Amino acid sequence: MTTVYNFNPGPAVLPRPVLEHVQRELLDYQGGGLSILEMSHRSREYEAVNQSAETRMKRLLGVGDDYRVLFVQGGASTQFAMVPMNLLQPGTSADYILTGTWSEKAHEEARKLGEARVAASTKADKFRRIPDQSELDLNPKAIYVHMTTNNTLFGTQWHVLPDVGDRPLVADMSSDFLSRPLDAQRFALIYAGAQKNIGPAGVTVVVIHSSLLEQKPVTPLTMFQYSTYAKNNSLYNTPPVFAVYMVDLVLQWIEDEGGLQAIGQRNIQKAAAVYNAVDRSGGFYRGHAEPASRSQMNATFRLPSEELEKQFVREAKAAGMVGLAGHRSVGGIRVSMYNAMSLEGCETLASFMDEFMQQNG
Ligand code: PMP
Repeated sequence: MTTVYNFNPGPAVLPRPVLEHVQRELLDYQGGGLSILEMSHRSREYEAVNQSAETRMKRLLGVGDDYRVLFVQGGASTQFAMVPMNLLQPGTSADYILTGTWSEKAHEEARKLGEARVAASTKADKFRRIPDQSELDLNPKAIYVHMTTNNTLFGTQWHVLPDVGDRPLVADMSSDFLSRPLDAQRFALIYAGAQKNIGPAGVTVVVIHSSLLEQKPVTPLTMFQYSTYAKNNSLYNTPPVFAVYMVDLVLQWIEDEGGLQAIGQRNIQKAAAVYNAVDRSGGFYRGHAEPASRSQMNATFRLPSEELEKQFVREAKAAGMVGLAGHRSVGGIRVSMYNAMSLEGCETLASFMDEFMQQNG
């Protein structure tokens, strides 16, 4: 069997032990003679999976019963709408911090439903950096403040959370969820598509403070109310059973690896391997992000020409490293190194970068 280092931006690399576990029990889940794919979401077996995924998630996040973990479909893009559909009460206004395309999209959805201000934006700097605290122009009455913790396309990440006072903080963590220790209590709501750090595509995790579940949702539509998911343990309708099952296994893998502290340490080393190769190249590789805003999940850089960029992607693939082409909005190379990417994978890529520069620089 061929194995490669998978640097895809999402869907992305999954832990090998999890894939092997899924393969082993795919045809016969825990001796019951059925596949998990064939089981009722009302079965005792699936309810246990669903419960386990919520419990593990809360344990990893270090939150108690004042938070709920919901499993929702429709991707993070649906959360761009669900957040204002639940929280943006008529006559109120929300604040959005714009650090890339995804936060712009979240802001646009909110504006379709009500008032959504821009509290800060680094667009004028091509989203190369995260704003400073002093740049935040927060509305004292903002009903919530929305941020994107990691900007998947541009390769920037918040390393110190913004201080938003007592305003509820809402975060899209799709591309750095559970990649490092996290002070979850700082957030009123976190959402993340699973397909980068914690599982396959098909489920989006919402971590929500119970006080938000007590308020009346703005929307009357059942499937768009967080309270529907909370009241029914995410089993109001048929959930994405297989995706939640895999999320539970990935969370177990994170625990087995030593939890967020250990995962976070490894992610720091991985990112350092790649950024060191950029920094020692004397300008052959030009990082998109300002160094202080660099993402540990997605490193983005350009080469001296588009021709060389194409050659880099081609030769890396031939050397067993796939998924390195940058997003069209930034161009160049994007190295996505989510939790399941090994340090060895990043070090192998860094050596490839050195050699590629020696041959083409
Ligand atoms: N937010 C971020 C930060 C993302 O990286 C992505 C997907 N790359 C999205 C939102 C959109 O997610 P989805 O495709 O699950 O709707």
